[in-house]
Amino acid sequence: HAKKTPRAGIEMYSESMGEQGQSRLRLEADLRRAIERDELSLHYQPQVDTRSGSVAGVEALLRWEHPEEGMIPPGDFIRLAEEIGVIDQLGDWVLVQACQQVQAFNRAGLKLQKVAINISALQFGTEFVARVNQVIRQFGIAPEQLELALTEGIMTSNDEETVEALRALKDTGVYLSVDDFGTGYSPLTYLSQYPLDEIKIAREFLLDSGRSEAGAKLIVAIIAMARSLGLRVLVTGVETHAQFKFLTENGAGFLQGYLFSPPVTADELKPMLSPWHFVDQVQRLAESQPP
Ligand code: C2E
Repeated sequence: HAKKTPRAGIEMYSESMGEQGQSRLRLEADLRRAIERDELSLHYQPQVDTRSGSVAGVEALLRWEHPEEGMIPPGDFIRLAEEIGVIDQLGDWVLVQACQQVQAFNRAGLKLQKVAINISALQFGTEFVARVNQVIRQFGIAPEQLELALTEGIMTSNDEETVEALRALKDTGVYLSVDDFGTGYSPLTYLSQYPLDEIKIAREFLLDSGRSEAGAKLIVAIIAMARSLGLRVLVTGVETHAQFKFLTENGAGFLQGYLFSPPVTADELKPMLSPWHFVDQVQRLAESQPP
């Protein structure tokens, strides 16, 4: 509307702002009710152990099926949930749902090693740690079957409650990982301060490694550093044979991405939990050259 008269321009502008504001308000109200209206679900994406070809775990990813807007991606509503103060309820729903699913798989004799859930910094604290213990017991799952993916912001927060909660987590026995390693502008000292099991290397690093030699060297160095600290390394967003080769040849043990599977429903995941599901694919990828 750049060529409109100023007056009309202002009217258009304020009208569209009004609409935007209204649609956000509506979305807020809808998000508050999404749980009770049963619009949320979890999808699961397998994480493949590149040495054995077995599934080392899955990541639970939240989905919101809005009755009018259709599927809204978490990138579009997690932040909103944090802003309007419903991330606690949402996060708790994810925790319960994921543990319940693990219980169901356990009962069906399917061997799911662990499920990873993403934890928002706003949801993290001593109360959360107590709740994790409670839910694990409620569903009778082994603590090692639950992975909490924490942000670097949580690991480096100095507020007393966070530090206490991180210490307390050690005793719960759950698997702890750092999400999107290296993207949080955080000092690395936390790596030796807390009892971590794994770092997750974000897709951005992976993309950089394909674009420049420096990017490739950086990811190789991160993998080496993590391994020397006794941490597992998982790389997310793996899409190509070339990425597979590069990562496995440089010691990344666990890969997640469209190369193996997109996030799927619990039912769709079932066949992938067979110990042999990815074995042939991994072997073929390891033995052949990318085009
Ligand atoms: P994330 O934890 O880094 O999750 C990985 C994202 O990458 C997922 O997007 C997944 O669908 C996508 N992805 C997986 N493989 C590939 C691939 O090969 N190529 C590409 N291009 N993308 C791939 P999604 O499901 O849209 O989730 C986005 C983010 O939302 C997550 O990033 C996570 O930070 C957040 N999120 C999702 N579920 C939850 C949740 O329950 N709680 C919290 N606090 N955050 C969540």
